[in-house]
Amino acid sequence: MELKELQQDIRTLATLEETSSQAISCYLNLEDGTAGYRNALDERAGILRKTFSGEERKDFEAALGRIEEFIQTGLLPDVKGAAIFARGGRQPFFLPLQFRVPLPNWLVVNSIPNIYHLVELKDTYHRFVVMISTEESARIVAVNLGEVTEELWKERPELRKRVGRGWTKEHYQNHRRNRTDQFIKEKIQVLEQLMSAGRYAHLILAGNPRITARVRNALPKPLAARLVDTIVASGSDRISDVVAATISSFVEQEERESQAVVERLWEEMHTDGLAVVGIRETLQALQRSQVDVLVMAKAYESEPGWSCAACGAAGMGDWKRKVCSECGEQQLRDADIKEEMVRMAERNGCHVEIVNHSDVLMQIGGVGALLRYLAPGQYLWELHDQAIKQARAYGQL
Ligand SMILES: [Zn+2]
Repeated sequence: MELKELQQDIRTLATLEETSSQAISCYLNLEDGTAGYRNALDERAGILRKTFSGEERKDFEAALGRIEEFIQTGLLPDVKGAAIFARGGRQPFFLPLQFRVPLPNWLVVNSIPNIYHLVELKDTYHRFVVMISTEESARIVAVNLGEVTEELWKERPELRKRVGRGWTKEHYQNHRRNRTDQFIKEKIQVLEQLMSAGRYAHLILAGNPRITARVRNALPKPLAARLVDTIVASGSDRISDVVAATISSFVEQEERESQAVVERLWEEMHTDGLAVVGIRETLQALQRSQVDVLVMAKAYESEPGWSCAACGAAGMGDWKRKVCSECGEQQLRDADIKEEMVRMAERNGCHVEIVNHSDVLMQIGGVGALLRYLAPGQYLWELHDQAIKQARAYGQL
């Protein structure tokens, strides 16, 4: 699946209008086949089933039935993770997605689909370009969400066939060297075209170390800046093995970039810049459409809150008998704040950066955001809030 398709699917899920029927969000880990998820799925479905009766139970069974049918007949042989969304009732909904990268086992029922794990997968695996170069061949492939989605370029110079029988060894070697130089130049031109189009921001080189070193040295600056890693691979390696090695390399790079975003958040906070930290502040910024990048620790555990079906606002804590603080309507329901934040971010087209490990981020509540702009009148409040925070940090309050 291409990254842009997943982006569209996430948007569909994030904007799905709720009905009186509940939606099932089913995530499966398929790394160990059926044995890896069957018990977990049955157990969780059994617990959820008991919470419904009457019409709700009927809708639940209809949705679960579609999921089971897809598991039996729709799963591709080499997928490692699936995310299946289903809703019964008068406005049924069904969206099955499968990936070459793993997802956790997770089954939940809610008025709207739960998208956090999809958003995490999108951020972790994203997309990049791999150039595999050996003595005999070169190919450039696009890797989206952990799978090769496109063969962008392939060439076998078939040098030996072109070489005349009467050539001396020296003649042959000179020819070969020139041919390789020319070959590298051509490949780099192809890469430049591909990557200047803006779809791909990361490049990994793989193959014969002698050739990849020469490619690396010949990379123009803009391409060198996008180089994540260089991996050793031989011509006999299967492409799936080479790509698997590049994925772990890319995931490490993605985590380094996450850390850099946390550093930027920290710097912005300490220079009265365009950032907020903490759950309440981040939620507020999301609601005001100020957020450019939502920064969230993987370990951030959601807390109960509410969201408003009328205007989309959300908040923390108990909401019983209250009206929405934003629009005054009485259409509040229980909500998972982590999900609400991710959904708001996706609806507004913000980038969501999931950070695997960050003590700094956890200390400030697990979430924060880099902002596009400060709300009018907010600037002074920001200074005031920060003064209080700093005073607290130094034990003066
Ligand atoms: Zn509202």
